[in-house]
Amino acid sequence: MSETYDVIVIGGGPAGYPAAIRAAQLGFKTVCIDAWLNMDNTPAFGGTCLNAGCIPSKALLESSELVHRAQHEFDKHGISTGPVSFDLAKMQARKTKVSRDLTGGIKALFQANKVTGLFGYGRLLGDGKVEYKDHDGKTSELVGKHIVIATGSAPVNLKIAPFDGDKIIDSWGALDMTEVPKRLGVIGAGVIGTELGSVWNRLGAKTVVIEAMPTFLPMVDQAIAKETLKHLTKQGLDIRLGAKVLGAKTGADGVTVEYEQNGETKSEVFDKLIVAVGRRPYTDGVGAKELGVAIDERGFVKVDAHYKTNVPGIYAVGDVIGNPMLAHKAIEEGVALAEQLAGHHTQLNYNAIPSVIYTSPEVAWVGLSEEQAKAAGYEVKTGTASFVPSGRAKAMEMNVGLCKVIADVKTDRILGVHMVGPHTSEMIAESVLALEYSATCEDIALTMHSHPSLSETFHDAVLLVDGRAVHAV
Ligand code: FAD
Repeated sequence: MSETYDVIVIGGGPAGYPAAIRAAQLGFKTVCIDAWLNMDNTPAFGGTCLNAGCIPSKALLESSELVHRAQHEFDKHGISTGPVSFDLAKMQARKTKVSRDLTGGIKALFQANKVTGLFGYGRLLGDGKVEYKDHDGKTSELVGKHIVIATGSAPVNLKIAPFDGDKIIDSWGALDMTEVPKRLGVIGAGVIGTELGSVWNRLGAKTVVIEAMPTFLPMVDQAIAKETLKHLTKQGLDIRLGAKVLGAKTGADGVTVEYEQNGETKSEVFDKLIVAVGRRPYTDGVGAKELGVAIDERGFVKVDAHYKTNVPGIYAVGDVIGNPMLAHKAIEEGVALAEQLAGHHTQLNYNAIPSVIYTSPEVAWVGLSEEQAKAAGYEVKTGTASFVPSGRAKAMEMNVGLCKVIADVKTDRILGVHMVGPHTSEMIAESVLALEYSATCEDIALTMHSHPSLSETFHDAVLLVDGRAVHAV
C-alpha cells in the first residue's frame, strides 16, 4: 500500500523545509524527504545551508573574528589578555553544536506543523508516485498530488584540481579542518572563497587566493569591490587576480598548483587547497530527467513564474532552479510555492535580493551597481559615504568602509545600494526595503535614523546623491 499525500517535498534544505511547513500550515498533508548525511553519518534536515554552508561558515567566521579582535584590537580598548590562543577542536565543536541545534529545530517545527519528515532518498517515478529509500536501503512508495524538487546544489569539481577529500577539499571539507594549515591555497575569490580564506587566514594560515577573473567581485559595485580588496589584503589575504589555474598535483610535500598570470607560468605549494569555484544544480538520482522534466544546459530545472516544471504536478524551488544560489531566496521560493498551491497570489521581487559576504568588513549589496545601472541604460547619480567619520563605527573601533547609493536621475528612485563596512549584513535590510517599496532618495533623506548608528552612513550616502549631507563630504 502506498502512503498518499497532498504534497511531497524532495529535499529538506532552505527551499524544501519551509515549503513543507507552509504547505502543512495551509492544510495539506505533507511529507518532506531529505537525504543529507553529516560527516559522522547522522542524518539531518537543513540541507547545505544549515549543515555545510551558511551556518557553520558563519560560526567559524565569528570565532576567528573574535581571535583576530582579541589579538589586534583589545589592546586599543585597554583590555589586556596576555598572549591569545585558541582551541580549534573546541571551536569546531561549537560550530557543530550551532548547526545541530538549528537542524534539530527543523525536526521540532515539522512535528509542531504535522509535516512527516523522512530521512533518505526520494525518486520520481511518474504518475504522482515517488520512491522513498531510507538510509538502510529499504524502499517504499509514496503518492502525491503535488511533488516539489528541492534538491539544491553541490560544489563544482574541477577536472584539473579534483577533490581528494584530503589535500584538495571542497567548502564542506574546509569547514571541517582539524588543524590550521601552514600554507593554504584557495581557488576562487568569490563569496565562499573569500569567506573561507578569511577564516583560516585569521587563524594563522598563510593564505593565497587564486582567481581567474581579472576583476575582484565583478558582481559588486567596483568602488566597493576595490575598498574590500584593500582591507582583505591588509589582513594578509594574498589575492591573485587574473591567475588561471592550469593544474594541481598532490605529493608528499602537499599540493602544487600551477597557474598562469600575466603570460607567465607560476607555481605554489600548499598544505591544503580549497576549491571554491561555484556550485552546480543537483538533480542526481532524483529521476527528473528520466521523467522528461526540462533541464537547461547548465543543469538547472526549468520552471515558470509559478515554479511549475513542464511536467504537470511537479514543481521546483531553490538552488536547483537557478541563481542566485542563496538560502533566503530558496526559503521565499519554498513559501511562495506552498501558498500558490493553496490558491494564494504570491510573487517574489527578484530585483530586491540582498547578497552578503561575511568577511570583515562585511560586504553587502542589493540591486544594481553603478556599472550595471549604466549598462542597463540608466542615467545615474550616486552618493558614497565613508564609515570613517561614523560615531558609532568609531566607538566600535570598526570605522572602515564605504556605502554607495546608485539612483536614477530621471525618477530619483534608488536602483541599488552596495556597501562594505561594519555589520552591513544587518544594515542592508533597510536598502532592500527601499528597493521593495521603490523608494526615492527623497524618501530616505526625509527618514530619520537613530544616532549614533551605522545606518546613518546609509542616510549620508543618500544625502550625498544630491550633495546635501551635513556630516559627510
Ligand atoms: P540545499 O541546501 O542544497 O538542500 C538540498 C537538500 O536536498 C539537501 O539536504 C540534499 O541532501 C537533499 N537531496 C538531494 N537529492 C535528494 C533526493 N534525491 N532525495 C532526498 N533529498 C535529496 N547562502 C546564503 O544565503 N547565505 C550564506 O551565508 C551562505 N553561505 C554559504 C556558505 C557555504 C560554504 C556554502 C556552500 C553555501 C552558502 N550559501 C549561503 C548558499 C546556501 O547554502 C544555499 O543557497 C541553500 O542551501 C540552498 O537551499 P536548497 O534548499 O535549494 O538546497
